[in-house]
Amino acid sequence: MDIHHSIRYKLTKLDNLWGKPLIKSALGFLGDKQQQPPSAKKQPRKATFISLKDARKKRFYYNYREDSVEVIPQLLGVKVFEDFDLKILRQYIDWTPFFHGWGLKGRFPGILEKEKVGREANRVFNEGQEMLDEIIEEKMFTPKGIIGIFPANSEGDDILIYASDRRKKVHRRIPMLRQQQLRDQEGFTLSLSDYIAPADSGKRDYLGGFAVTSGFETDGLVQHFKSQGDSYNSVMVRLLADRLVEAFAEVLHEAVRKKYWGYDPGEKLSQTDLIKERYKGIRPAPGYPACPDHTLKGHLFDLMKVERRTGITLNDSYAMNPASSVAGFYMAHDRSRYFGIGKIGEDQLRDYARRASVDPEEAEKWLAPVL
Ligand code: SAM
Repeated sequence: MDIHHSIRYKLTKLDNLWGKPLIKSALGFLGDKQQQPPSAKKQPRKATFISLKDARKKRFYYNYREDSVEVIPQLLGVKVFEDFDLKILRQYIDWTPFFHGWGLKGRFPGILEKEKVGREANRVFNEGQEMLDEIIEEKMFTPKGIIGIFPANSEGDDILIYASDRRKKVHRRIPMLRQQQLRDQEGFTLSLSDYIAPADSGKRDYLGGFAVTSGFETDGLVQHFKSQGDSYNSVMVRLLADRLVEAFAEVLHEAVRKKYWGYDPGEKLSQTDLIKERYKGIRPAPGYPACPDHTLKGHLFDLMKVERRTGITLNDSYAMNPASSVAGFYMAHDRSRYFGIGKIGEDQLRDYARRASVDPEEAEKWLAPVL
C-alpha cells in the first residue's frame, strides 16, 4: 500500500478553490447533504399548520386490502456482505456530489465541459480516478455491509416489527413522524408508516434495513494525510470513501429489489435511472427529512445487530463510525417517495415521545430541527 508516496501532492495553493476555502467547501457540502438532499427541496411555499389529529385523518390513502400484492421476500433476517468488490462499487458511483465536495457546481459528466469550472473539474476528476485506481488495485478499503428484511405492519404512525412471519408477537415498535403542514387541501400529510400495510388490512408486509461502510481504513488514511499537512489528499480520500459508500448503498438496494426481497425481479435500470431514483420503493435514512430523528438508527442497529456483525458503531450522538457509512430502511411500496416532515407541533412532540418511550425533554433534543 503506497498511496502515501505515489499520490503526488498536486494542488499547491490549498487555501482557495474558486474563492472558497477548500476543506470548508468539501465538508460544508457533506453537511448540506445531510440537511437538504435534493429530493426534499420541492415543497410548495404556502402551508397551513394542522393538529396531529387532523393530520392523521389526511394520511396517505391506499386501499391495502384490495390493491396491495403480497411479496414474500426471499431473505427473511439478515445477510452480511464482507469485503465487497470495489470494482463493482466503482461502476455505481454517482460523481456529481464529488464535484460539489470540491465546491464545483454542476452535474457530471456535463461539468467537465463547463466553461467556468471545467478545468478544475477535469483536474480533480482525473486525480480522483488515479487515487481510486490505486485504492482498488491495492485493495486499500474493505467495504462491509449488512441488509435485513423483517415481517412488518403499521399501526397508527408506528411500524411494528414481528418476531417471526407468524406475526403473533411484536418484537419492536418503530415510531415515525407525520407531516403537520398541509400544503394542498387535496394533499396528504405523510408519514413513512403510511407505506407499510396496516396490521388490520390483513396483508403481510415487510420492512428492510441496511448499514454499509466503505471500509475501516478510510478514517485512518484521512487522518494520515491531515497529520502530514496534506489537506488536499485527505479531502480526496474522504470524498472517494463517501462516493464508494453511497455506491454500495445503491448496489445493495438494487440487489434487494431484484433478489433478496424480489419485489421487482425484472427491473432494468441504467446508472442514470438509479441516480434519478427511478426504481420502485425508497431507502429513507434516519437524519434525513422524512425521518429526521437520528435515534432511529438505534432501531436499525439493534434489529440487524449491526455493531456485532459489521463493526460499524454508533456514538452517543448517533453518528456512525467509520464516518463513511450509510444506514437506512427499505420500503417496497410502489407509491412511496421521499418527502420532508417539516415542522411538527407540541401535540406530536408529546405523542412521539410517548411512542418512543422517552421523556418529552429527550424527544425535544432529538427533534429540535423540526420543532
Ligand atoms: N446518488 C446519491 C449519492 O451517491 O450521493 C445518493 C445519496 S443521496 C444522499 C440520497 C439518499 O439520501 C437516499 O437514497 C436516501 O437514503 C436519503 N434521502 C434522501 N432524501 C430523503 C428524505 N427526504 N428522507 C429520508 N431519506 C432521504
